[in-house]
Amino acid sequence: MPISPSYLDELVARNPIEEVVGQYVSLTRRSSNLFGLCPFHSEKTPSFSVAPDKGIYYCFGCHKGGGVVNFIMEIESLSFRDAVIFLAKRANMPLPDDGRPDAVSKQRDRLLALCKASAKYYHEQLKLPHGEPARAYFAKRALSPATITRFGLGYAPDGWNGLIDAMTAQGFTKEELLAAGLALKHQTKGTVYDRFRNRVMFPIIDVRGNVIAFGGRVLDDSTPKYLNSSETLIFNKRRNLFALNIAKKSKADYIILTEGYMDAIALHQYGFDCAVASLGTSLTEEHVNLLSKYTNKLILTYDSDEAGQNATRRALPMLEKAGIAVKVLRMQGAKDPDEFLKKYGADAFHSLLNKSENQAEYFLNALLRKYDLTIDDQKIAFAREAAQTIAAMPNAVERDVYCRRAAEAAGVSPEAIRIEAEKARKKMARAKRIRQERENTAVSQMHQPKERTIRYENMRSAMAEEGLLQQLAKEPELFERVDLDESLFSVPLLGRAYSAMRAQYEQGRTVSVASLGEAFSAEETAHLSSVLQKRGDLISDQAIDDYIRVIREEHAKSNMSVEERLRAAQDRANKN
Ligand SMILES: [Zn+2]
Repeated sequence: MPISPSYLDELVARNPIEEVVGQYVSLTRRSSNLFGLCPFHSEKTPSFSVAPDKGIYYCFGCHKGGGVVNFIMEIESLSFRDAVIFLAKRANMPLPDDGRPDAVSKQRDRLLALCKASAKYYHEQLKLPHGEPARAYFAKRALSPATITRFGLGYAPDGWNGLIDAMTAQGFTKEELLAAGLALKHQTKGTVYDRFRNRVMFPIIDVRGNVIAFGGRVLDDSTPKYLNSSETLIFNKRRNLFALNIAKKSKADYIILTEGYMDAIALHQYGFDCAVASLGTSLTEEHVNLLSKYTNKLILTYDSDEAGQNATRRALPMLEKAGIAVKVLRMQGAKDPDEFLKKYGADAFHSLLNKSENQAEYFLNALLRKYDLTIDDQKIAFAREAAQTIAAMPNAVERDVYCRRAAEAAGVSPEAIRIEAEKARKKMARAKRIRQERENTAVSQMHQPKERTIRYENMRSAMAEEGLLQQLAKEPELFERVDLDESLFSVPLLGRAYSAMRAQYEQGRTVSVASLGEAFSAEETAHLSSVLQKRGDLISDQAIDDYIRVIREEHAKSNMSVEERLRAAQDRANKN
């Protein structure tokens, strides 16, 4: 059942945006608006604004925006309905639909309970006689009992329904086991069986401490070596990092990112409690956002093989963009941190950490490995590519240092590299200027919505439509003198918003983007928020009349041109 508009009004009124946002972001007042660091992208100067009078937020950096419900949807990763329930609980309001608990959050709670019970089950199996192969495996990997307990490691016995039997005995259903990604259904027979069999088990725990999924590793060399839970209602591998629940409490001011959970666990055992691992996927934007909440220093320790190096090259710019200072740890004498620690111990790893390379060093060393500097041709190619890398460095001192280093490596004069680098810099600057000019000439481009899915075809009309909405949101009584129809708007979204706000006004509700409800997508709501937070002209009858006139004019023009085109087409047809 959809949530009624009056319920939504009440909900929005009882959850002032500045209070709700204030629980996540520290806000400071600047004139009538509040500003803070955006929780949705990483930044050092606040571009996230909250307008209490309008009940909206908008980020000038990442262009997210909306009302209080949108904010909760985004920050808590909830559906519209669940966000409404979240806010209802916050304001001690009765839940929508006469208090019937929401189906999705109920399901979510059930799956979390099931994963927790399953983690306990797997952990207990480890102590039983049939857990011997798993105990032997952990012993071989030199994991201490303390580590096994700390990470809640376990064993999925070799059988088809050990977990299913244990969990159904506790009142969970097979459907729930399927929904949690813990069981699979046979395609033809329809029988349900355990997904994880004869594997050592690694519970995956979110930052709040909930078990949300599992990773399972085979005990021998069979494949697949690692198996993760499928994505479920509660588990999204793009948004979660293994061991972050522990690493976030670490005293270290950096985080070590590893490729696999065995590496992360080994690091923790050796005292590096700031290690986390991505879960069988390369680093995602969501991971970077998550990391940036806890640290601004990261050390990458991907494997030294080609796949690991490619992953490193992909990750560097993403992290850099988020304002995270990245260093790359180059493993020597071992293929991964786990192996390194066993061979050389914690102290050696510490000094390796200290020697880890920053981005420039990393790229330069990668180049050195790429070229054979005993061959003249390759030496030239090296110098050219190194100059490119150096040219991109923003700092002059840094450029100088790396010019010398690259020159030394290639056995050429620093001057030669410097000249190449300057050439490359000039070329880059020129390209940048041309880019900028192109942007400037398209002035209207500036007013194009940041949302790519929304385009303004008729800029003159669109600006008038925006202005009109701004005025109406500020002073809804003006609806009395505006007699436009939605169809006259050149931007369908603005037309729809106009009608929805008009309906709010006519029903005696609060006129606000914050309570538009589900009829508008997140992108649409964000765009409307961006429009309404703009500083509109002072309200005057003249301005309103101008906007209405422009909208009518442009609409008439567009109609006429269609007719003209039709007439022209008919004329052509008659001539032939
Ligand atoms: Zn932002």
